[in-house]
Amino acid sequence: MVALLESVEAFSSREHQLFIGGEFVASRGSERIDVHDPATGGLLTTVASANAEDVDAAVAAARAALPGWAALPPAQRGELLWRLGARLEELAEEFAQLEAIDNGKPTSESLAVDVPLTAGLFKYYAGAVSRIEGRTIAPMGGANFHVYTRREPVGVVGAIIPWNFPLLMCGYKLGPSLAAGNTVVLKPAEQTPLAALRLAEVLAEVGFPPGVVNIVTGLGPSAGAPLAAHGDVDKVTFTGETSTGQKIMEAAKGNMKKVSLELGGKSPSLVFADADLDAAVEGTFGAVFFNQGQCCIAGARVYVHDDIYDEFTKRLVDRVGEVRLGSGLDPRTTMGPLVSAEQQARVNGYIRSGLEEGASIASDPASAVPEVGSFVRPTVFTDVRPDMRIMREEIFGPVAMVGRFSTEEQAIAAANDTAYGLCSGVWTRDVARVHRIAAAIHAGTVYANTYGYFDPAVPFGGFKMSGFGKELGEEALDHYLQTKTVWVNLD
Ligand code: ADP
Repeated sequence: MVALLESVEAFSSREHQLFIGGEFVASRGSERIDVHDPATGGLLTTVASANAEDVDAAVAAARAALPGWAALPPAQRGELLWRLGARLEELAEEFAQLEAIDNGKPTSESLAVDVPLTAGLFKYYAGAVSRIEGRTIAPMGGANFHVYTRREPVGVVGAIIPWNFPLLMCGYKLGPSLAAGNTVVLKPAEQTPLAALRLAEVLAEVGFPPGVVNIVTGLGPSAGAPLAAHGDVDKVTFTGETSTGQKIMEAAKGNMKKVSLELGGKSPSLVFADADLDAAVEGTFGAVFFNQGQCCIAGARVYVHDDIYDEFTKRLVDRVGEVRLGSGLDPRTTMGPLVSAEQQARVNGYIRSGLEEGASIASDPASAVPEVGSFVRPTVFTDVRPDMRIMREEIFGPVAMVGRFSTEEQAIAAANDTAYGLCSGVWTRDVARVHRIAAAIHAGTVYANTYGYFDPAVPFGGFKMSGFGKELGEEALDHYLQTKTVWVNLD
């Protein structure tokens, strides 16, 4: 086991307050939230549980900071974002350890994905400040007008994020918001507040003005709901469960907030008989089990062509057999605990429901699982039917369902047989098939012969019940800007 850095030890054992107006301040209430290490169940510390008054104060700070931030020369906004990205790169080990004890994920994964992607997207959005441009338009009536558009910030953004990628989700929301000239009140998930609080310190250290980013730790109903409903918040951006997204839309309607929602998924992977089997097994394994399966894009519904079904399933099960469960701080660990005991119970409940509904477990049902901590045995189900709960509902845990098909039409129909539309994967050497399937699948992303790649420049987001309003890339920036049209009479 790797020892905690002194800075992480000190930070994670300190009591934390709210970050409002550039300072750490006590909540107006007295409620606190316990922060647990999911690998041990042990209590790390407590953080403030913000209430509606705290949210008011954070929104007021963001509102006060807005004119100055929006008026800052883009080069200066860009420079601050770049510095933030660069500082995160220097602090990679520290953030990786914080994520390991707060969320449970192995440090190797944070160092390979979460931290560099977050840093990279701050740097990408540092550059994006130079690409915020309006247009001049020739009116069809041809009258004597000069018409142009200005791209202006939306204003104060409320950002509500989940626990599966605590640092990265801060980046998804803050990068485009800040590049566009908005100020932000961000509420991290109650299970994983530490990365956002440490990021608050880094924001101040690299020179972001007070109030430009405010962090309110708190629960969904007492802190998230007042933020989503707040009359002085201009936009709410949310990542989380579809049912919570529906509540957020409802709450946002009072002042017609702009809304971006990145919600759940039940994504398919289609494996054809001509696929490179080694790559398909490894890619499908990663699609389901990366981050302990706690990914909205998890490609948990795997459909395999009849001709290779037995061979593929055997290899996937063998691959799952190599998983080594343990603390995220142990370099030998390849899969950490789930985020909480509650999530562990929920996922184990799905595993039971799969068995009750007649599915079979093809993976080793007795493989070793640590007794302490919220670990779940990685599980591969076969004999699945489309009506089973495990095939319809988002499990958010290390559980794969392997079904079969015999024709391309069947594969496409199975892939689309879901209320969600976040992601999908296809494994085949047939290039024409790749493009046919990419067009036929109703989902925001199609991966062909790969899965789960993310890049700051590449838009990501869902169709159907998986939400709307892309994240990342230029498209995300659009969602944090509004277009103003100016008509000038030239007579
Ligand atoms: P999960 O099951 O991943 O916790 P949620 O969608 O419940 O998914 O949580 C994602 C984020 O939404 C968290 O920050 C949570 O506190 C917040 N949240 C939960 N309920 C509400 C709500 N009614 N209004 C606003 N935010 C909420």
